[in-house]
Amino acid sequence: MNIREMTRQECTAMLKSSRLGRLACVRDDRPYVVPIHFAFGDNFIFSFSLLGKKVEWMRQNRHVCLQVDDVGSVHGWKSVVVDGLFEDLPKAPDPDWTVPANDQQALVSDREREFAWSLLQKHANWWEPGALKPGETAGSGGHLFYQIRIETISGRQAFR
Ligand SMILES: Cc1cc2nc3c(=O)[nH]c(=O)nc-3n(C[C@H](O)[C@H](O)[C@H](O)COP(=O)(O)OP(=O)(O)OC[C@H]3O[C@@H](n4cnc5c(N)ncnc54)[C@H](O)[C@@H]3O)c2cc1C
Repeated sequence: MNIREMTRQECTAMLKSSRLGRLACVRDDRPYVVPIHFAFGDNFIFSFSLLGKKVEWMRQNRHVCLQVDDVGSVHGWKSVVVDGLFEDLPKAPDPDWTVPANDQQALVSDREREFAWSLLQKHANWWEPGALKPGETAGSGGHLFYQIRIETISGRQAFR
């Protein structure tokens, strides 16, 4: 078996075609890893969540890591690791809301949220069941959007 580094292009192609990753965050020197569904766009990973431990931790320490893999066999697999920064995306504004004059930050956030939604919507419903908590039902609300601003990407591929 051989291992090689994947190119940036190969890594982003894999992120584009992947839906499931493992998200790691850290608080007080303690790691926490959970599976999440995500969408990749430009230089960001987008996802949905309910409030809970990972969001609480990521808000305290924005440095996170996402790992994605495609395991065909013991001797043939691909794995991509993304290091990045967690960023909250504000909730959808109400329909009558208009961007206040000169509020560039509001404009940018609104565009990013719409972009995230358009990417996630392409895969309608695949993320929703995973984002439920024990005892909750779909549609009970409270979801939030967030993004991971990608800082570095690395990928390794095993082959014969
Ligand atoms: C295939 C798949 C896709 C998923 N997609 C998403 C997604 O897109 N968005 C999303 O937010 N969540 C998704 N989840 C659920 C996610 O893995 C977490 O369970 C969930 O987000 C709750 O995380 P939390 O930190 O808010 O936990 P909390 O509800 O705050 O609970 C904290 C404690 O519960 C336990 N716990 C939490 N999650 C898990 C878990 N997955 N496995 C074992 N123990 C756990 C841990 O002990 C942890 O300390 C997905 C899960 C799967 C299996």
